[in-house]
Amino acid sequence: MKNSSDEIYSLLRDNIKDMIPYSTARDDCKIPMEIYLDANESPFENGVNRYPSPSQPEIKRKLARLKKVRPENIFIGNGSDEAIDLIFRLFCTPGRDSAVIVSPTYGMYGTAGRINDIKIIECPLGPEFSLDASRVLAAVDQTVKVIFLCSPNNPSGNLLEEKEIEKIIGTFPGITVIDQAYIDFAPGKSLCSRINDCPRTIVLQTLSKAWGMAGLRIGMAIACETVIDAMNRIKYPYNISVPVQRQVLEMLDDPFSVQERVSIIISEREKMAQALARMRGVEKVFPSDANFLLVHFREKQKVFDYLKDHGIIVRDRSSLPLCRDCLRITIGTPRENARLLAALENCADGHGSGEKREEEKTSAGRKATVKRKTKETDICVSVELDRFEEPFVSTGLHFFDHMLQQIGYHGAIGLRILCIGDLETDDHHTVEDTAIALGDALSQALGPKTGIERYGFALPMDEAQDWVLLDLGGRIDFKWEAEFRSEKIGDLNSQMLEHFFKTLAQHLKCNLHIRAEGKNDHHVAEGIFKAFARALKAAIRKDCTDFRIPSSKGIL
Ligand SMILES: *Cc1c(COP(=O)(O)O)cnc(C)c1O
Repeated sequence: MKNSSDEIYSLLRDNIKDMIPYSTARDDCKIPMEIYLDANESPFENGVNRYPSPSQPEIKRKLARLKKVRPENIFIGNGSDEAIDLIFRLFCTPGRDSAVIVSPTYGMYGTAGRINDIKIIECPLGPEFSLDASRVLAAVDQTVKVIFLCSPNNPSGNLLEEKEIEKIIGTFPGITVIDQAYIDFAPGKSLCSRINDCPRTIVLQTLSKAWGMAGLRIGMAIACETVIDAMNRIKYPYNISVPVQRQVLEMLDDPFSVQERVSIIISEREKMAQALARMRGVEKVFPSDANFLLVHFREKQKVFDYLKDHGIIVRDRSSLPLCRDCLRITIGTPRENARLLAALENCADGHGSGEKREEEKTSAGRKATVKRKTKETDICVSVELDRFEEPFVSTGLHFFDHMLQQIGYHGAIGLRILCIGDLETDDHHTVEDTAIALGDALSQALGPKTGIERYGFALPMDEAQDWVLLDLGGRIDFKWEAEFRSEKIGDLNSQMLEHFFKTLAQHLKCNLHIRAEGKNDHHVAEGIFKAFARALKAAIRKDCTDFRIPSSKGIL
């Protein structure tokens, strides 16, 4: 029975097997010296006059803790791209050997393979980009030394099924590479621990995506010690520069803000997937476990060109197998995503070709869309009173979004709010203009108000005491009796809440009385929004047997 290092040794390319690696000047110098006259460096200190550490032990120690492996199991490269190239050079003989990749997948495997004169065998993924191990294994012959799998896969975004990956690892006698560049965005687990059970497995991860360090170029291969040793033997000795090593060490100390940003990206991804799926012109949004969405458009080229003309670049993946008419869209900041949606909506409007307006005119039912553009904000609000739809709200203010969603949920109405506002100075314009547009939209959707209940009220919500009285009769009045303990609730100034409802009342043309008390600002605010939504739900309800204006004067 072979032990694991013999097994890996037998897989290495012949010329690599017993090659003596280039030894760097300081390889065998374990303790710090006083004077370095060994490497022909400049002796004058300027921060970068010395060669960097060729083995990056400090970075490896930190990464090992994060990845729950030993430092000896980590190779650090100039991006994962370096690791991909080295894998070909270690295990495949040019002009003779081949590698299997699935398709569609990340382009670098094919490119690095062809540069090394290695034949690339493409094995198409199944329906919904699923992995079928038996299909991949059927493509393997004597010449295949490496199989590349990418999970979550780029450009499709989905995790490959673990059971199928295991089948490949368990059956294929060569090297299986699992590229997990996007694993931080996925519910699937990192496969780093697999290297202990199977020495022929190499896991690739990177600091380029979730960690936000694409500009530093740091990728890693995680594998058994024999594979990592072999990679270190053939890499450029000083592949990671001094300033990069310094900055990576610093940035690795802040995993919490990385997690926070990842959770924002994931929640934006879900919001965007829903919003895109509802858009005219979108055939399909593929489910994603990564920080991008693959979207099948009805008119891909028109969309791509329109976005480009408006300063937004996405990735055209339509030439890849199974990706006909597909664009790959990276999830950006909430603001960038809102701008993308606004641009797509305008594109679908056919730049005002009249197609959509026709649709709006002919569609009966109580709904309205209000677009407002001021110096500070660009806003679009759609409401539909008689049909609930999962609310979509994006204003760039996290807490405000969460509150506005309550109006959709508890009002049981269709609600879409997209606001691109100037938040650099403060949140005033975003809140005010949202209130104006929402009030106008609700008022327009109500139309002549025939048959509506007109009045609504709601009583204590949760453990906070919130009261809302609402009369849609048309007389504008506003009373506010609520105080908040702190200046900010989440990312919203608490004093903006009164201003929001006051402005909303003016534009909805209603009489609104709000009273609230409670210990927890967040709960009080949320209670007000829920209570308002409940009151609104009651007041806008239509009695289908009553076609009168709900006023003794016969006019509202
Ligand atoms: C982005 C990406 C990488 C990362 O490459 P780096 O060279 O580390 O920036 C690796 N694999 C896949 C599939 C990717 O999409």
